[in-house]
Amino acid sequence: MRIYKVGGAVRDRLLGKPVTDIDWVVVGATTEEMLAKGFRPVGADFPVFLHPKSGEEYALARTERKSGRGYGGFTFHASPEVTLEEDLIRRDLTINAMAEDDQQNLTDPYHGQRDLEARLLRHVSPAFAEDPLRVLRVARFAARYAALGFTVAPETLELMRQLSESGELEALTPERSWKEISRALMEDQPQVFVEVLRACGALKVLMPEVDALFGVPQPPAHHPEIDTGTHTLSVLQQAALHKQPLTVRWACLLHDLGKGLTPEEEWPRHIAHEFKGLKLIKAVNERFKVPRDCQELALLVGEYHTHGHRALELKPSTLLELLQSFDIYRRPQRFEEFIAACEMDARGRKGLEERSYPQADYLRGAATAARSVAVQPLLEKGFKGPELGEAIKRERLKALKAYKEAAST
Ligand code: ATP
Ligand code: MG
Repeated sequence: MRIYKVGGAVRDRLLGKPVTDIDWVVVGATTEEMLAKGFRPVGADFPVFLHPKSGEEYALARTERKSGRGYGGFTFHASPEVTLEEDLIRRDLTINAMAEDDQQNLTDPYHGQRDLEARLLRHVSPAFAEDPLRVLRVARFAARYAALGFTVAPETLELMRQLSESGELEALTPERSWKEISRALMEDQPQVFVEVLRACGALKVLMPEVDALFGVPQPPAHHPEIDTGTHTLSVLQQAALHKQPLTVRWACLLHDLGKGLTPEEEWPRHIAHEFKGLKLIKAVNERFKVPRDCQELALLVGEYHTHGHRALELKPSTLLELLQSFDIYRRPQRFEEFIAACEMDARGRKGLEERSYPQADYLRGAATAARSVAVQPLLEKGFKGPELGEAIKRERLKALKAYKEAAST
């Protein structure tokens, strides 16, 4: 049997990027031989094994044929006769279809090295169209390598467009899609992921609510960039620049969905877009079975981001309602993430990227003031049950009034 490094490990070494996980392909071996060497099988009928010591993935060289819709619709053929070239041709991009032996001899039948130099994300063969997940993967790689100057080859974008129009994207499971989406959002240029999906028509299929924001104007006084889609991409870019976590990035992507519902005659104003957007945010959340923390933050940011921007003008009672909605007493981290998303929203505007955002510290101070109300003295005064709740609220309101007064002098 012959063993080669493949995929990302080869690509990233040639790019001079750190290699984190290594995928291996094994040519000329049978399942029985792998088991005899102590490799552990990954799945029942999948020719992939884990190394007994390193835990890295070793896959028998295989060919694939599409036999139906979706991910399940593949038949694999793994046998000792399958060659390295045959295995490499089923891969998505030429830069991912190179292999290397233990002497660093490169096998590169589909010219991955040439495309690395040309900075092109190019599909290996027409079989690319057999797995719709590749549309998301290419967009993700575009986001990751945009800083190095990579773009999607025009003929690959064309294939991605055909795939998007074919209805195949709908066959993706929420889990597979979310895995790609979440990884893409954590790249340095997540906005490129959205741009590429939009350029090939996949955004309209996967997230029509985000796609609809392009071409929708906003008031130039607050939004010099005018276009709501452009704004959304800038907010996402700011979130990446500021190293925000996935929850914040997801909330940034969805915060203005309501603006896509505004009747044209109301443009460029978007009355109550915060509230109108909630059902759209919920729909996107559910479509991809998004993790609970991301779902929650996106809904809260959608509903309250303009409160964040107007923090200094809010009445103490409104401020208190905001803090209560976030349950800041038990969920301090979530409120911090809300503040971060608001700040990214404020900075994701043309020419305003460096603006200061005093609202952030003001909101933090308000949260501290509300939290500083002690319950013990109220208990000692004999408050119980709902009356205790009311008394705590009254004290918190008092604290917020004092806070606001102190802040404005
Ligand atoms: P990363 O740095 O994100 O791990 P990677 O290229 O190693 O990038 P993996 O998902 O680990 O990506 O997959 C390893 C290799 O398997 C890829 O480089 C590619 O050759 C192949 N591959 C993975 N998923 C697909 C797919 N859906 N279609 C075609 N080839 C794929
Ligand atoms: Mg990998």
